[in-house]
Amino acid sequence: MIALADQFGRRIEYLRISVTDRCNFRCVYCMPAEGLPWLPKQDILTYEEITAIVAQLAPLGLRRLRITGGEPTIRPNLPSLVRMLHGVPGIEDIALSTNGVRLPEMVDALVDAGLDRVNMSADSLRADRIAAIARRNLGFDPRHAALAAEHAGLLPVKINVVVMRGINDDEIEDFARLTLEHPWHVRFIELMPVGDMRTLTWDHVVPSDEILSRLSALGSLAPDAGPERGNGPAAYHRFAGAPGCVGVITPMTHTYCGSCNRVRLTADGRLRTCLYGDHEVNLRDPLRAGDDLEPLYVRALSEKPREHNLLQMQVGGLRALSQIGG
Ligand code: SAM
Ligand code: SF4
Repeated sequence: MIALADQFGRRIEYLRISVTDRCNFRCVYCMPAEGLPWLPKQDILTYEEITAIVAQLAPLGLRRLRITGGEPTIRPNLPSLVRMLHGVPGIEDIALSTNGVRLPEMVDALVDAGLDRVNMSADSLRADRIAAIARRNLGFDPRHAALAAEHAGLLPVKINVVVMRGINDDEIEDFARLTLEHPWHVRFIELMPVGDMRTLTWDHVVPSDEILSRLSALGSLAPDAGPERGNGPAAYHRFAGAPGCVGVITPMTHTYCGSCNRVRLTADGRLRTCLYGDHEVNLRDPLRAGDDLEPLYVRALSEKPREHNLLQMQVGGLRALSQIGG
């Protein structure tokens, strides 16, 4: 089956599903310390409703799903959602984005339910700094969590590092060295000016070119095709002989809009065709009313913008990624 394309010919096969806007962390670049006004429970899609939406969109070309949030692992019985989505005809790949805190205890149940891949966030390898950036000390150990995912067969384990100048950029090399020992894909993400980042400014953004030149100083680095089943915008490189890869994700200095293959479903059932901007289509209420979602989806894709204008936006002018489903 051919995926439905938007007005610019981009085939949309990939849906990111936020299952909660809540989180057990309060990362400085994502949420204020006091949290956000959380969605009321009745506004949030049930697992049955999420599955019903996916089942209606799969015949229109959806193939791959990513479960995200907020922090998806804090929503009860997450493996049961994975199992339900795994049973939808046409869905070929289910991935999870997580802060990794609960990954070691949950990973086997998630894989058993049908999870194919995981992206784990880790902004430091130092316990005190992890707690400072996340504003929570939950004993998160990135190496332990990544090993648990690797042993459970979620390959390649991808580790996302949001690089912030003067906060964790002195660990770029330490993160990169992990790829010399492990078959992990360490991806450095440029900090984005979304949400309410009172303590962060444009001065904290480290451009990917600078990251790559620092990585090159570590050893011979060659461009790499990256993971076969990746859906995303990372550009990968590999150190000679290394089992793992390093990658950069550059929302600030480059855009990938021309090859964007994704749409998003927020925890309260709104379809977002672009991460940025305000355009959302309510799928929850029509679903609850028993309406057919196909015409709404087709119209939403026809209105998917050509590209975002993040560089023109002001810091704090956009919703936090935890609210959108980052
Ligand atoms: N809680 C999960 C996690 O942290 O991986 C999933 C949701 S989180 C919103 C998804 C991704 O967005 C994470 O990799 C996080 O680091 C990234 N993110 C959130 N706010 C960001 C920002 N302001 N700039 C860059 N990346 C950001
Ligand atoms: Fe939570 Fe992920 Fe946002 Fe951090 S980035 S506060 S872990 S949703």
